[in-house]
This record gives sequence, C-alpha cells and structure tokens, in this order.
Amino acid sequence: MIDPLRGEWSSASNALADRLCRGRHQAQVDLPELPRSDLGEAGTVIHALWTGTEPPREPRADEMEKAAALGEQEVRVAEEFFPTGDGLVRIVERRLWHEFPAMSNDPARGTLKTSGRFDVALVHPESRRALICDGKSGWLPVTPNPSNLQLRRLAALLWLQLDSAEIGVCILKPVGKREPPCVYNVPDLRRSVSELEEDVRQSHAPDARRTAGEEQCRYCRAREGCPTRLAWLATALPAAFPPLPLKTARDWTPAQRVLFLEREKDARDWLAARKEEIKSLLAEQPDAVPGYSLKPGRTLETIIDPQEVWQRFGPGMGGSLEAFMKCIKVGKSALKEELRALSGHKGKALEADLDILLAGCVETTTSAATIERLK
Ligand code: SF4
Repeated sequence: MIDPLRGEWSSASNALADRLCRGRHQAQVDLPELPRSDLGEAGTVIHALWTGTEPPREPRADEMEKAAALGEQEVRVAEEFFPTGDGLVRIVERRLWHEFPAMSNDPARGTLKTSGRFDVALVHPESRRALICDGKSGWLPVTPNPSNLQLRRLAALLWLQLDSAEIGVCILKPVGKREPPCVYNVPDLRRSVSELEEDVRQSHAPDARRTAGEEQCRYCRAREGCPTRLAWLATALPAAFPPLPLKTARDWTPAQRVLFLEREKDARDWLAARKEEIKSLLAEQPDAVPGYSLKPGRTLETIIDPQEVWQRFGPGMGGSLEAFMKCIKVGKSALKEELRALSGHKGKALEADLDILLAGCVETTTSAATIERLK
C-alpha cells in the first residue's frame, strides 16, 4: 500500500520521474505500491545495516559485506569533506517536509507539500556545512552527483531546516569508483528550492500531461493500465503495430533499432505480466482460456547434506573420493564468504586470499557479449 510516511505527496526520490512525466504524480493517486522485488528487499536490509537501524530480516553475508563497504566509504568521504570530525552529528533516515503556496502569486490558494528522505546526513554545526550520503546497492545505473535531481532536492530540503552555508551530496556504492561530492552553496540551494516548488506545482496542475519513457514509467504505480505508456510500448510490438516492420533487424534503419532496444524490455515485462495474470485466472477458473490448463510446477531436489551423502557413497558403498568430487561444484561466492569468516579479511586482502586459494584450480570462460547503452 501507499507509504504512510510519504502519503500521497510527491517526494525527492520521484523528482526526476515526475519532471519527465508531469502527469505521473496524479496518475498514481490511490493506486497500491508496486510489488517489491528481492533486490528491493536486499537494498532495505543493506541500508538498515549501514545506517544502524533495525533490518527487516536476518541479513545474508553478502548484504553485510555491502553494508560494511558503504560504511567505509562514508568514513572516507567525511574525512575528505570536513576539515575536522569534531562535533560532527550523524542523522540517519530522516524524512524532511516542505510546505509552500500552491500558487506563487496567490498565497490564499492553499498550500502544497513535498518531502524527501535521506539515508545519512553528516552535519557540522560549527562550520555550517553538511554532507548528505545516499547509498546505492543495486546494479541500475546511477545519475552522477552533480546532475542527480533527487540529491539536489534533499540538499534543498535540508537547507530549509538547517540554513547551512554549504551542503555536499554524495552517492556511495559498495562496488565501483566513488565520485567526489557535489557541493551546493546558498544561491544554488535557494534556486533548488524554487525549482522544487515549481516542479511540484506542475505535477499538481489539473492539465498535467503524461509523457511515457523508460525512466519515468519504470516504478510508476499507474504503469500497467496507463494508456500513454501502452501506446508508447505498442511501437515495440511489431506484429500488432506497424512502426517496426516485420522483417529482420538487419533491414531496419538505425533509428528503428534504437526504438526496439529502448522498449523491448518494457514490452517483455508487459507480456510477462499478462502471462502471470492468465496463470492466476486459470488457477481461479480452470475454463478461463479454452484449450489451456495449468500444469503443476516441477519438483526439484537439492542435496543439502553432502557430508552424509559422502559417508554413504564412500565408507558405506566403497566409492572413491575422486569419483565423489566429480559430482561436487564449489560456489565461488560461498567459498569467499567462508574464507572471509576464516581469515577476518575483507576488500582487497580477501581478494588476494581468494586468488592464492584458487590459483591453478579454476577454468575461465567468457559469456556471450551483451548490448549496453553508450554513455
Ligand atoms: S505510466 Fe508512464 S506515462 Fe503513464 S503516468 Fe506513469 S510515468 Fe506517466
């Protein structure tokens, strides 16, 4: 259901999407939240461990490692940003609100509200400087610090509360290179507040236009039934809609190939969502689709006690260890976790341990090339 803390008001995390589709905010009112993915849940656990709040479930080893990496990055960026750590205050996971006139030239026309929630804000009262750290744990590309609208919004909201002289924003990622923080001074922050208010007003305008696109539609709660998105998506379904001709992609124009790549994932998601709906329908009403029925899923067995199996195979039945080992696959990630527990090392030291452990014992293969968008 709707996030009760954010309510039906726009928030900093939707700033870019709401700007790209002005009708997005109103299209979502009263619609339930999208189902959470496993990756989304892992992200919540990692954030909780990093910020020091209660994780919603028992963390896994890889999640603890990512949270520790975020913590290390926070320490490093704070050391670089603040000349001294004395008097530094750490505030975590706080939602900030801003209420302002619905019409800038007529304050009597009521107010609008918007909010934003930061992961970690480090505040240094003496120098009147603050640093907002936003942790990312997924694999989706992240907008760099200077052009990240969500972070600029958070900086503006924090400035309204603290009246800081300077606020830095920085994305932290467990893997990959960290960028230097983007620093906003008072004129920048003042401009960000006006920009924020104007964006929110446009999202609340009665004639706010919908504009579909990958970025804004990805997490929009209206996405499944939104006619604007469905019309946008339709151009990637060549059988029903003519923009992409029904012939090999070799004979498409370069622009037609771009169109296909930009929408094929959404088209696949749309087809998969319809298939899931038909599955649910068949479970509820077996005659919902003439000529089709629901086939029960396959039962899979996983060996969870290899030691006991070895006892039976080797000492019990006379099988050799060599023959048994041919049946065993050692997972590199799981082995790395065990090694980490054994050595207490992490980061580069752990990688070095693993390289020594596996030297001469691995076979390297390269998977097929994938398509990526050029920056
Ligand atoms: S699904 Fe896309 S086009 Fe429709 S309202 Fe949401 S963001 Fe806008």
